[in-house]
Amino acid sequence: MRLENKVALITGGNSGIGLATARLFVAEGARVAITGRNQETLDAAARELGPDVLVLKADVNDPEAVGRAVEATVARFGRLDVLFANAGISGFTPVGKTSLASFQDILNTNLTSVFFTVQAAVPHLNDGASVVLNGSVLAVLGARGYSAYAASKAGVRAMARVMAAELSPRRIRVNVVTPGAAQTPIWSAAAPTPEALAALEQRLARGIPLGRLGEADEIAKTVLFLASDDASNIQAAELVVDGGATGAP
Ligand code: NDP
Repeated sequence: MRLENKVALITGGNSGIGLATARLFVAEGARVAITGRNQETLDAAARELGPDVLVLKADVNDPEAVGRAVEATVARFGRLDVLFANAGISGFTPVGKTSLASFQDILNTNLTSVFFTVQAAVPHLNDGASVVLNGSVLAVLGARGYSAYAASKAGVRAMARVMAAELSPRRIRVNVVTPGAAQTPIWSAAAPTPEALAALEQRLARGIPLGRLGEADEIAKTVLFLASDDASNIQAAELVVDGGATGAP
């Protein structure tokens, strides 16, 4: 029970990595609140995770909604020990074919909202709390057509170090989990049919030394580690979960 007596808030907890993390946190004894936008998947997550999990509809691009979600979490559970700023979107933004609105949507959702989610949580976080931000290997690898996404995640990476410095006096740890390609619904926009998804996964797997995409559970286990007291001296770090995509020559 590595999160016994801890309270955690997970943005984007109704799908993929966020949902896998919510499941694991509950199993490890945490009291958990999740946010998301999609009512159908929020309802499904509520049914799966049970009545002890607080399920909140909140768009991370709406700072007031995020503030209300943080306050609702503290009102329900009385404290806040862990924030997993996980919500994010992908999107194809090739140079020459991308509108300002679609570029900004990715920057806002993946970067600006992370800043304001942490800002909303900070007054409520206990001293010694853990903040985990969700990055991406594309912050360093890049990928053709993914300028906005890569820039947003590079921003998360840079921002985490600054936040860690600012929050260290309160012993609040800020770290980044950096997934490589992992099997979650985020790929459905790039590959709308099962055949296209299988072909995309095969192509992605060829660039990964371990030869396969990651699984949401594998990333959730890393988030659990960073969130728990097992990582009590880990600050401003980045833990990469990518099957060797960035590390192995
Ligand atoms: P999913 O699409 O399964 O999950 C994305 C989550 O973010 C959903 O819960 C979604 O909720 C939420 N979300 C998106 N936009 C908003 C918004 N404006 N307000 C509130 N919630 C929002 O994908 P993943 O689980 O893969 O993605 C989680 C994180 O992992 C992202 O930050 C992504 O960039 C990162 N990542 C994923 C990788 C992968 O290969 N899967 C690789 C590297 C990083 P809703 O559906 O309700 O909008």
